[in-house]
Amino acid sequence: HLSQRLQTVADFVRPGARLADIGSDHAYLPVYLAKNGVITAAIAGEVVTGPFENAVREIRDEHLTGVIVPRKADGLAAIKPDDNIDTITIAGMGGTLIAEILEQGKARLTHRERLILQPNVGEDNVRRWLQANQYGIVAERILAEDGHIYEIIVADPLDEPVQYSADELTFGPFLLREKSPILKDKWRREQMRLDEVIKTMQQADHAPVDKIQEFKAQRQRIQ
Ligand code: SAM
Repeated sequence: HLSQRLQTVADFVRPGARLADIGSDHAYLPVYLAKNGVITAAIAGEVVTGPFENAVREIRDEHLTGVIVPRKADGLAAIKPDDNIDTITIAGMGGTLIAEILEQGKARLTHRERLILQPNVGEDNVRRWLQANQYGIVAERILAEDGHIYEIIVADPLDEPVQYSADELTFGPFLLREKSPILKDKWRREQMRLDEVIKTMQQADHAPVDKIQEFKAQRQRIQ
């Protein structure tokens, strides 16, 4: 079975989907979805040799060679027009990297695909990219597993531009409304981290006054 994190990503893949899982490593996500009859076809994209070989082995061991194609490629370069991909998952990396992969691979997008993104940190970069590229967030999840807090962002193409507030970009439009204990815990941890940074700066010989003010403002915004 999948981790709760990947299961939550899987839950947003619609039946019959043609999936591209970018940064697939062991290809656990497409393998699970194929074994459960959710997806019709998948590409497991990987840029690094070791993880790519993990994907190749897993797909072969699970006898899914006809359904899941492993491709060694950088980001969305794993996708070819003939694949008719309608769903892209990118999970388990920083939000900056996810946004970079989407930006660099823009030419491969048809603007018809559902994007299911699971940044480990820097979620605001992902939301900003979605906003700039006319994808609307349709669902968000936050969960705690093995001492980490994970967010999942689901976005579908929009006909009209969308504008999120600064708070929505940082905290997530759905998560902000839901205000779950996990969200509060996540941002309480971030406040504690900022407190440590502020304390360290205040103890410095030449305390950087402007920086301290900036971090205090960040802390206040979270509050
Ligand atoms: N997606 C899986 C998951 O969520 O469990 C694996 C996550 S793993 C921590 C991140 C993977 O992304 C690594 O295997 C890494 O090689 C791959 N990766 C990083 N940058 C990539 C890129 N530009 N294109 C394809 N894969 C990439």
